[in-house]
Amino acid sequence: MSKDVAIIGAGVSGLSAAWKLAENGFRINVFEKEDVIGGISSTFSHGECKLDYGPHKIYTQLDDVYAEIKKLLGPDLLEIEKKSRIRLEGKYFDYPVTIFQLIFRMNPSITMGIGISYLYAILNSKVSKVRDDSYESYLINRFGKSLCSLVFFPYAKKIWGEPKTLASSLAESRVPIPSLSELAKRKIMGDHGKREISASTFNYPRNGIIDLSKKMAEKIIQSNGNIHLGRGVTRLSVEKGRVISVELSDGASFDADHFISTMPLANLIHMINPMPPQNILNAVDLLKHKNLILVYLVISKDHLFEDNWIFFPEEAYSFNRIFEQKSFSPFMIPKGITVLSAEITCSQESAEWHMDEKKLVDIVIKQLEKSGIISAKDVIDSFTKRIKNAYPVYDINHKKNREIVMEYLDGIMNLYSIGRLGYFNYVGMADCMDMGIKTAQNIVDSNDQADWRKLRKTFESYQTID
Ligand SMILES: Cc1cc2nc3c(=O)[nH]c(=O)nc-3n(C[C@H](O)[C@H](O)[C@H](O)COP(=O)(O)OP(=O)(O)OC[C@H]3O[C@@H](n4cnc5c(N)ncnc54)[C@H](O)[C@@H]3O)c2cc1C
Repeated sequence: MSKDVAIIGAGVSGLSAAWKLAENGFRINVFEKEDVIGGISSTFSHGECKLDYGPHKIYTQLDDVYAEIKKLLGPDLLEIEKKSRIRLEGKYFDYPVTIFQLIFRMNPSITMGIGISYLYAILNSKVSKVRDDSYESYLINRFGKSLCSLVFFPYAKKIWGEPKTLASSLAESRVPIPSLSELAKRKIMGDHGKREISASTFNYPRNGIIDLSKKMAEKIIQSNGNIHLGRGVTRLSVEKGRVISVELSDGASFDADHFISTMPLANLIHMINPMPPQNILNAVDLLKHKNLILVYLVISKDHLFEDNWIFFPEEAYSFNRIFEQKSFSPFMIPKGITVLSAEITCSQESAEWHMDEKKLVDIVIKQLEKSGIISAKDVIDSFTKRIKNAYPVYDINHKKNREIVMEYLDGIMNLYSIGRLGYFNYVGMADCMDMGIKTAQNIVDSNDQADWRKLRKTFESYQTID
């Protein structure tokens, strides 16, 4: 049996694959370009505070993965009651918004507009064959244009882009409410046996989301695996349909029998030597990402709000969500202060991405003061973090382009590209662990390429529950 596996990336996808392979007796070497593990699900220190890169709740309907997470974290896995709100038309509503709040708290003319446009959408779908092929049309057909223009479209524009350019699958996986009438029905009759709209609780590790990765890293090391930090992969040499070795940022080269990559798919394709055909390069370059800027404000108050996070779809705000780390774990921030973080999603070319820290912080403070969330005088410290490629953009053609690239990779027998960016898959941590664990099992079972292809196609149907 082939025993050496090189894994590129020490985020949750790479670590979960490494953990399961190490436990099965494989010789494991994980190469991570950064000096820390955890990838995007990591935690850093700022003074006495421990902070994540954006709010990271653990919630999954994948029972096997959830059982593994519980075993890994044991008593350090906290259970948190979830509370979130959304700001619409100057008011805060529970999120997901309830039908009663829409009727009774919204300005009556807006409520009426929502009702009329919903009825129009329903009638329209009865008399003509409506298109359902984009994020925009999918949601209008189920909620009417007014509600979409109030909630879904401004939010989508902030994070991913113009709703009509986005795939309907984005709405299917990210907006679990089937329609406005279904929302009303569930309020009255309950949602027994139906797809969950929103979780009432979630889990979180006591000392930050990095602990999930730390626990997996401990298991890898206990099983004699190696994790090399600060050693990025820069090139993969392919011969006769197999990866022979990888080159590392320190100039060394490393051979293995199998290679699992969790780096962004485009980076992987551009590192393959000899260079893949032009149509593969073209397809991968059409897969776009959005970057994320996190603006952190240290506030001289014990707590700011009850919510774990609050959504801000309105255009007047440059951020799309704010969160308070303390509402995930009170053990990460000292008493007497709290840290709020505002998430700004943007493209590489945007003005925000290139804006200096002070200017960004000033904008966010002013906007938060206007929203009534903070008072500028209470901000005692501030800083930003920038994350490239935080969000894969599901545009209308992403599935076709991803499949072109994946089919090419299927032809490289011992290479598996998995994870949020490695599979260009807009999913959460548990889904990434599922990909890692199942890819490991595929290698343990010495499955052939047809089995791998079948397995990787299942990675395309994870559902997100907010
Ligand atoms: C703001 C935000 C909030 C989120 N909230 C949640 C949430 O509430 N719940 C949830 O479940 N999920 C959440 N997610 C998603 C979650 O963070 C990801 O699904 C998960 O962390 C992805 O893990 P990964 O291992 O696939 O990728 P990554 O974390 O990106 O790991 C890939 C690793 O590969 C390394 N790498 C890249 N190139 C190379 C190279 N050439 N050589 C070596 N190493 C390399 C990177 O440095 C990185 O460490 C959120 C994401 C964001 C951005």
